Formats: sequence, structure tokens, C-alpha cells
Amino acid sequence: MSAELVDLHVHLYGCLSPKDIWILGRDSELDSNMLDLFDHRYRKVFGRPSSYEAYWLSESGVDAIAEDYLATTRSTFAEFQAKFDLLPALFPLKPHAPLILSHVIDKHHDEGIQFIEYRCFLPPYLNDSEIDRYLTDMVHVLIDKENAYQKEIQPSLVMSIPRQPEIFNRLYEVLHSWLDAHPSYRSYIVAIDLCASEEGHPPKSISESLARVAQNNSREPKSSLAILYHVGEQYSHLSLCSSVRWVHQAVSIGAHRLGHAASLGLDSSILLGSEGNETVSERFDHLIWLKENNHWLSENGVELSSSDITKELRSLESKQPDDMLSVHYTPEYLEQFNQLQHAILSNLSKTKIIIESCPTSNSILTDAPLDQRHPLVKFKKYGLPVSIGSDDPGIFDCTLASELDLAQSLAGKLSSSARYRSKNLI
Ligand SMILES: [Zn+2]
Repeated sequence: MSAELVDLHVHLYGCLSPKDIWILGRDSELDSNMLDLFDHRYRKVFGRPSSYEAYWLSESGVDAIAEDYLATTRSTFAEFQAKFDLLPALFPLKPHAPLILSHVIDKHHDEGIQFIEYRCFLPPYLNDSEIDRYLTDMVHVLIDKENAYQKEIQPSLVMSIPRQPEIFNRLYEVLHSWLDAHPSYRSYIVAIDLCASEEGHPPKSISESLARVAQNNSREPKSSLAILYHVGEQYSHLSLCSSVRWVHQAVSIGAHRLGHAASLGLDSSILLGSEGNETVSERFDHLIWLKENNHWLSENGVELSSSDITKELRSLESKQPDDMLSVHYTPEYLEQFNQLQHAILSNLSKTKIIIESCPTSNSILTDAPLDQRHPLVKFKKYGLPVSIGSDDPGIFDCTLASELDLAQSLAGKLSSSARYRSKNLI
């Protein structure tokens, strides 16, 4: 286990264990409408109701919460999301987030964590002054806890912002104005994060927004925010090849750290014989990207035939952009994918990009098994800097320490990731 405990990929609400939920919910005013809505979505995904009405009927309510909430075996992202949705239903971000932050910092201090960057959702339904208050309240918790623990734990916040450009732009501007107005709090909010549903939100759609972040970062370095980007984690409706292209594109548009990038390190033989799909427009974008990046891809071993690409582009012209194309993971497809994966890994190993790898999370939400086929093993082989994160330890029933042990058993000794903290990246 690493001597220094540093978690740079962890979602605040996802830190709550069933026991934490039981303790915090026992004293909270519960909103039955929100819980009904959660239950409705839960039924849709799992085909059974949740048992939220039993959570606080007796001490065994913790078991009922665990039964509904824990994700410890392979799950789809929709299943994970349906479980995670219990949290905002029980503890709406405003006013609960500061209370939860306080509870979670105590827990992490007891675990011996020294540096931690909590990802916390910036809710688009709040107006500007509510966001102002929300951020200030959260930072007050960080300052109080840091003082109380005499900096034994140094927590900071990463604001998770939805990927839709119009929502992102508004929230980023509010956050940026808040940083301008509160210079003494700047060191506590260190980054923005693009998370939640990845599919349907290609990097190209957010590139202008991130260019604005980069522009502000260089103009006002003191209030700069690192860009953290979940990518390469969801590829059921995106081909494996497009998924690794998205990883590369996320770096090209300014990401400083990548969340998971699982497809980039995955041993593709796991998917042999299975199927995926993607839209015509995504395949079109992929072919254009291959053409535009032909030079470095070929240099790194990708065999490209421009006449084949042109032919396929023509064949797509008769289709609608939203039509779905099946993708069959045949040995030929996977050979092409392996070439592309190798080229992108080689290319990125020459950049400063850092990968946040979350071993247990990957084994539950992606196809990565906890053995030599796990993406972490390949990242290490290519010399990419990696930071181990616990992601949603409360839901996955893990801790940062257990993740570091697991990472070491998979990929050997890893150095401390304290130097990859957001404040060191810009
Ligand atoms: Zn995450």
C-alpha cells in the first residue's frame, strides 16, 4: 500500500455506505415525492420495486438499503445510475451537500487520507445566487475541517458539470464569477469534471466550451480550474474504435486528467464475438478523424486504406445520421482496434495526460476483469501516469486503501499520485 493516501477520483455522494445513509437519513426530513420518483425509475431498470419504505422501520434497515443500493457485481451504467439516484432523492444537494461533505471528510480522515478531491455536482436547477451560497457553504466545511484536523487531511472540491454545452457554459460562468468574487477560497475549488452519461456527448460538442476554460486559465492563473474528463467508460452504443478516439479527442480539447479511459487499456479479446452499435454520424466522424490523423496513426502501426475509407464514407451518405449501425467484434475488427489502441497509447504516452484508474469501479461498470486484462496493466506497460481512485466507494463497497492494494496486485508498485493533484496541472 502507498504510504501517502491520495484520492483524485471520488464522487462525494458515492462515498456514502448503506450505514452512512441510514445514519444521515434517520435525522433528515424525507421527501416522499422524490423517493417515489426514485422508486419509479428503479422499478423500470430492475423490474422490482425498491424497499425504501422499510429503510428506517428497524435497525435492519441498513440491510434493506444495502440490498437496493450496493453494486458489487457487473452492472450496466443504467443500473448503477438507478442505485446512485437514491442519494439525491434522500439528500437533495441543497441543503444537504455540506452536511454530507462534513460526514465524509470525517470518515476519510479516519481512514488516513491526506489529499482528496471530492467531485460534487453543480446543480443546473439552482439560480445564480443559490449556486453562490451552495459553493460558499461547501468551502466553509472544507476550511472548518482542515483546521479541525490541522491539515492532516487536505480536502478540495471538483465541480461536476453536465456535458450539454448550454448548461455547461452557464454553470461554468457562474463558477468563474464566484472564484473572482472569493479570492481567498480559490484554492478549495480546483477543477471541473465532465461526468454522468458519456454516450451521446462526443468531445467535439464541448470543445468550444473547454477552449473558453483554457483561455480563462491562462488569463487568470490564480483562479484556474483543471479539466477532468470521464471518457472511455461507456461503449454500449459507441463502437470500441470510436470510444478510444473519444479518449484521444478529450486530450486534444484540453483535458488534464482522464477518468477511467477503460477502453484505451482494455484487453479487447474479452469482447471477441460480442456486438455493439453506434450511430451513422459517429461512424462518419470516426472515418473523417482517421483521414485527418492518418500521418501519426500510420507511423504508429495503424494500417489505413484511404480508398476503403472513401468508399465507406460514400456508403454512409444514403443513411440518416441517427440510424444505428451494428458493430461485430470479430477477430478482424479487434485487430484493427488493437492497432488503434496501440497508436493512441503510444501517442498519449508522449503527452502529460494522467489517467485516473478505479480498479473495482472498472470491473463493475466496464468489461475489465480484475486480472492481467485490466486497463491499468496496459497503462503501466505504456508508461502512462496513473492515479488510483475509489470512484464511488460507498456503492462499490471498497476503500481507497483496498483499491491501492488491488492496483498493486494487478500492476505492481505505483508511485504516489500527490503530484497529479489538480493544482499542479495548470
Ligand atoms: Zn467517476
